[in-house]
Amino acid sequence: VKNAHDEELSSVESVLDLIRSSGGRSTGSRRALLEVLFDSGEHRTAEELARAVKLRAPDVHLSTVYRNLEELEQLGVIVHNHLGHGPVTYQLVTRTHAHLLCENCGVRLEAPPSMFRALVASARKNFDFEVDPRHFAISGLCANCRRERDEGARPAE
Ligand SMILES: [Zn+2]
Ligand SMILES: [Zn+2]
Ligand SMILES: [Zn+2]
Repeated sequence: VKNAHDEELSSVESVLDLIRSSGGRSTGSRRALLEVLFDSGEHRTAEELARAVKLRAPDVHLSTVYRNLEELEQLGVIVHNHLGHGPVTYQLVTRTHAHLLCENCGVRLEAPPSMFRALVASARKNFDFEVDPRHFAISGLCANCRRERDEGARPAE
């Protein structure tokens, strides 16, 4: 669903406009970080992002990248996700989705947040709680690992 906020977040330039209109400055480090975020479709850890930013802007300090990540998250430009046991990863808010994570082999499936509509509705109704399905991965077993488990459980012939 496209809305006004999505327009503001559709490009590096439009996010820099948003930063300026909320009192921030459009610095080289912010621009480099945004370019990296827009270029990579994948989930990236803060460390990976900092490495990529340094390739574009070698004199940017690691602490600046961390601070910029915090700012972008407060502005609603990016979100962080917990996908398994590793460090958090970051994504542009316009590209977020929910995840199913196999706890045996680590395979990660992307799921539209709409898949969790019933869960979101019942948590709100029964607990007055708003679930954010993008924040955590739902863990379980993928088809392959279940097949292996079921074959292993079968008595030998
Ligand atoms: Zn979190
Ligand atoms: Zn698996
Ligand atoms: Zn994902």
